[in-house]
Amino acid sequence: MTRRVLVLGGTAEARVLAGLLDGDPGLAVTTSLAGRTPQPGPLAGQVRTGGFGGAAGLAGWLRDQRADAVVDATHPFAAAISAHAAQAALATGVPLLALRRPGWSAGVGDRWHWADSLAEAAALLPALGQRPFLTTGRQDLAAFAGLPLDFLARSVTPPDPPLPARLRVLLDRGPFTLDAERALLREHRVDVLVTKDSGGQDTAAKLTAAREAALPVLIVRRPPPAPAPGVSTVTTPAAAVRWLRALR
Ligand code: NAP
Repeated sequence: MTRRVLVLGGTAEARVLAGLLDGDPGLAVTTSLAGRTPQPGPLAGQVRTGGFGGAAGLAGWLRDQRADAVVDATHPFAAAISAHAAQAALATGVPLLALRRPGWSAGVGDRWHWADSLAEAAALLPALGQRPFLTTGRQDLAAFAGLPLDFLARSVTPPDPPLPARLRVLLDRGPFTLDAERALLREHRVDVLVTKDSGGQDTAAKLTAAREAALPVLIVRRPPPAPAPGVSTVTTPAAAVRWLRALR
């Protein structure tokens, strides 16, 4: 019997998972994207795009599609969709697995300053540097808009206003190499790096480059996970594959 699986995506892990499951005769996989990125990279299997209409909309979709399982492989900072997945799974009884890459942790030589929110990061930033490199993503510049600093920001698509008055934007998509990150920090004379604790390898080189250059890093903690009683969490796509195959 073929099992129908919904993967809530928008991450490198979701892409890898779709690739690993592609061609499995026992599983019919659909990856869901929010639709924020105009040209997302290639994805194996079926893809659907756009919101579901809240937790109730997602529950309705799971019922209509007779889904057998959901893997929430969204970004650790995408709190709303994860909360909706937990609620929809509870409402429908469809098993839910969370696939979450581990967060980053500081090593010897790192000068990390943790903030609980983007607003707290913005409050701490002026004491740490004058030429910040913002890598928080295109939706998250508003918190810094009022600061009179010389910002450099990197995002996949142009950032959403309101924006800081003094801002240069680099449009680019990871993965980023250590050599490129070193060169970028030097070229733009960055004196503080600002990031969310996204975790993963694709965007980790900036942290190494900052350590080598003895730069402070302002890092925003992940939002607390949505309450999801009975939901298992794995950290790798391979573990998610094992969980799905065990459902049969
Ligand atoms: P969010 O705040 O948790 O979600 C906002 C709304 O977008 C959700 O309520 C849902 O709309 C829709 N949505 C989000 N992810 C979806 C998905 N995979 N499939 C269908 N609908 C989805 O999410 P976000 O922070 O804006 O992130 C949007 C997407 O970008 C996510 O898929 C996430 O994995 C990816 N992403 C986010 C970040 C980040 O820093 N937040 C970074 C990299 C990638 P409805 O309520 O209408 O269903």
